[in-house]
Amino acid sequence: MSRDYDIIIIGTGPAGFSSAMQSSKFGKEVLVVESHKKYLGGTWINTGTVPSKALREAAKNILDFNEQFGDHEHKKPYERFQMDDLLQYKQEILEKENQKVKNDLIKNKVDVARGFGRLKGKHTVEVETHIGSTETYTADYILVSTGSSPIPPTNFEVDNDKVLDYKSILEITHIPRRLVVIGSGVNAIEYATIFAALGTRVTLLSDKKDYLTFLDHEIKEHLQNSLRKKGITIKKNVRVEDVSFSALRNFTEVKFRSKSEDKRLQVVETEHVLFLGGRKPNIDGLNLDTVGIKTDDRNFIETDDSFKTNVDNIYAAGDVIGFPRLASASFSQGRLAACNMFGIPALEVPDQIPYGIYAIPEISNIGITEQDAEEMGLDVTVGRAYFKNIAKGNMSNNSEGLLKLVFSTNSLKLLGVHILGADAANLIHLGQSVMSYGGDVRYFINHVMNYPTMSEAYRIAAFNGVNRVHKAGVKYKNILEDKSEE
Ligand SMILES: Cc1cc2nc3c(=O)[nH]c(=O)nc-3n(C[C@H](O)[C@H](O)[C@H](O)COP(=O)(O)OP(=O)(O)OC[C@H]3O[C@@H](n4cnc5c(N)ncnc54)[C@H](O)[C@@H]3O)c2cc1C
Repeated sequence: MSRDYDIIIIGTGPAGFSSAMQSSKFGKEVLVVESHKKYLGGTWINTGTVPSKALREAAKNILDFNEQFGDHEHKKPYERFQMDDLLQYKQEILEKENQKVKNDLIKNKVDVARGFGRLKGKHTVEVETHIGSTETYTADYILVSTGSSPIPPTNFEVDNDKVLDYKSILEITHIPRRLVVIGSGVNAIEYATIFAALGTRVTLLSDKKDYLTFLDHEIKEHLQNSLRKKGITIKKNVRVEDVSFSALRNFTEVKFRSKSEDKRLQVVETEHVLFLGGRKPNIDGLNLDTVGIKTDDRNFIETDDSFKTNVDNIYAAGDVIGFPRLASASFSQGRLAACNMFGIPALEVPDQIPYGIYAIPEISNIGITEQDAEEMGLDVTVGRAYFKNIAKGNMSNNSEGLLKLVFSTNSLKLLGVHILGADAANLIHLGQSVMSYGGDVRYFINHVMNYPTMSEAYRIAAFNGVNRVHKAGVKYKNILEDKSEE
């Protein structure tokens, strides 16, 4: 039976966009459905990844300038820079990225239906347009890539005036003098450091006993020191009881209580609150029940390794299927879903993917940590390079941070890379490449790399690591000789 399209994709975030592009490259007829009235690109371009990182780059530039050339007339950044200028910069990038998505879809002959998409059957999608009409389309395959939304707080309200969320923070009209960030995830740490860089006094309230627990312990220690130096106060394991505006004092009061022994009610006065809690999948109104698509206990759509749901021709990718809920992973998932649908062999998303935390300083990691290795009973050695010992780090005023390699003591095989400092999210990819080909730390010693670069950290860390193996009793000759081919 002939259908309108080979594939209908609901949602144009990174998962939907990459799936559309890959499907069109296979010569397939593709329709994307997008419910946003104005923009394509989802959280990725409009409210999450791109705008938050554009704002971060602007804040980092201001911080770098101040650190290198000193505070101009001892004024804080918020006295010298307007939030409007920072947001204008963000808006220009957002518009450019949006236009790029639009152009790519047009160039690749992907049709776009504007409106809310819902399943009407295994092969049928109904689109409710913004003027209230409905259109129905059929396809051999359907990809659900509708993303995720924040879970609202239970004991106070996000009013988008005093209490902001990840969207309304992007509309704020001035750099606040004080900000309370409520949250404990990556975005909370990122925004805390972005505003601290702008001179804002930041307090972070986390309901968890700790934050970013997946980090290597040394990287975490460096991060803690850096947050302390930036004047960010962190209160862990607390429950926020109330957020209210005091007209008398013209301040917002955040009342919270520690969840441990000392349960006294504490109050912090602030100009604004930024709430960054957990997220839930966008499945409301999709009619998943109509075709019997299974979800897990947190309502994320269940898929197999090929991103196929329990219904043969319906796939799902991106935030709507849960972990890791990153634009980076969503791009791969959407593309691979298309490959699997159309029977084109493709590699699976590798088990080990890099994580980037765009705090100031930046953090990135891949593979196992030193503490993971200990728990797994692996004999590993670590090698470190401090950015203050790297020429490029000093030249570029980026001497804060370190790169740490975790490798097998016996085979020298690289098992993990952990970086804190300038360009960490970019630097990680050299380690990722070596790891993905099963390489060992001698790669960084034997290959000529551009100089001066931050990548020199790999060479220094590798030497530092093999020196440690040598000191433990292994002859240097044996370390440097590659016996893997024998
Ligand atoms: C503040 C913040 C910062 C972030 N920073 C990073 C980062 O630095 N790096 C990173 O990798 N990730 C980051 N992320 C995560 C990243 O944005 C998401 O993982 C990614 O956007 C998910 O992609 P997606 O395709 O699943 O969904 P989305 O990008 O959310 O797109 C889903 C699209 O589907 C549309 N839609 C929903 N329901 C329907 C429907 N029924 N019909 C039609 N259309 C529909 C939506 O309008 C939206 O356009 C960040 C997220 C936030 C909130």
